[in-house]
Amino acid sequence: MTNWPRMNLAAGPVEVPERTRRDLSKPVLYHYDPAFKEEFAHTSDLLKQVFRTNYDVVIMQGEAILGLEAAAASLIQPGDKVLNLVSGVFGKWFEFFIDKFGGETIELAVGYDDAIDPEDVRKALNANPGVKYLSVVHSETPSGTHNPVREIGNIAREFGVLTMVDTVSGLGSELLSPEEWGLDVAIAGPQKCLGGTPGLSLMSISPAAWEAMEKHANPLRGSFLSILDWKDAWLENNRFPYTPSVSEMYALESTLTQTLEEGVERVAWRHQTIAKACREGVKALGLELWPVREEIAAGCVTAVKMPDGLTDEQIRGTMRHRYGVMISPGYGDLNGKLFRLGHMGMAAHPTMLASQLAILERSLKDIGYPVQMGAGVGAAMDAIEGWDDAA
Ligand SMILES: *Cc1c(COP(=O)(O)O)cnc(C)c1O
Repeated sequence: MTNWPRMNLAAGPVEVPERTRRDLSKPVLYHYDPAFKEEFAHTSDLLKQVFRTNYDVVIMQGEAILGLEAAAASLIQPGDKVLNLVSGVFGKWFEFFIDKFGGETIELAVGYDDAIDPEDVRKALNANPGVKYLSVVHSETPSGTHNPVREIGNIAREFGVLTMVDTVSGLGSELLSPEEWGLDVAIAGPQKCLGGTPGLSLMSISPAAWEAMEKHANPLRGSFLSILDWKDAWLENNRFPYTPSVSEMYALESTLTQTLEEGVERVAWRHQTIAKACREGVKALGLELWPVREEIAAGCVTAVKMPDGLTDEQIRGTMRHRYGVMISPGYGDLNGKLFRLGHMGMAAHPTMLASQLAILERSLKDIGYPVQMGAGVGAAMDAIEGWDDAA
């Protein structure tokens, strides 16, 4: 049997705090027990605070992909023009949903090491009258890049275009605001920067998005993919469309409580600070960052170009097998081209970053790659000068 890792520094699901694991083990309640309904309502309220929104929030009971597909299924009607922004694997994947629900995809794409320029979005919307929706990935986890969703959302709003935003790994890594950023349906996951467990879709829905779902020629109801079912049942009648994942809701309540105790601002700052320090460490080791410009590097993971002549199995394999440290590979089209250092949730901390970089250095040396031991850790620790957990 394979030994378990000592550290899970993957691109999600991530390691969760002991407190979350304890809360996950609370007794399983009947979902119509008043105590559970209270928990559910409280958790929804916490989610609004973490999203920093007054829009309705919906917690769909499945991994964030459910929320992404539900958004497409609930909004898109056959023939609707959807401007799909593609800067990575998840952006490209969304086209599949657009096709599936009969939409017409207009693609605006850049290389998977780049980010979308908002001015190109404006040009695309000018060149394509009648676009109804825009879909974009906030933080492209597989590429370690992020898109300027605030600017993009505001341009979409100028054109009266509704947005579907995959912020699965964005929420918690940046301070976002659905109202100010023009996010009509925003979908996040607990298992990325919030440092929670996988299994739920966290959604914020604007009034305009609700209206579009209601006005759909064939409004999606009576389906696991239906967001309207959650509105009709939970938001309006304090009922559930079906049994929620009771234990996952305990974990989410715990995760969101911990996020708010620390402060959403602090959580975002912690991710950005550690991401920056990680990049300094990578550069000091003579390795190359995958994103074309550092300004577009994500807060959730740091993608590093695979050095010439080395394989994924050499780097990640050595880290995992010899030292029990799990990091993520390149995903989809990016497989073998990069590896990703993880700093989401608990991993966004100097302790975890130092050990991760130290094990990376040791592993590079093991496989014969020239590396000055301590250079990466040193540069990263230099970069976090002033850090104070108690501040
Ligand atoms: C993690 C993630 C998802 C969810 O996808 P899984 O493959 O189920 O983990 C979607 N979008 C982004 C940007 C993500 O990082």
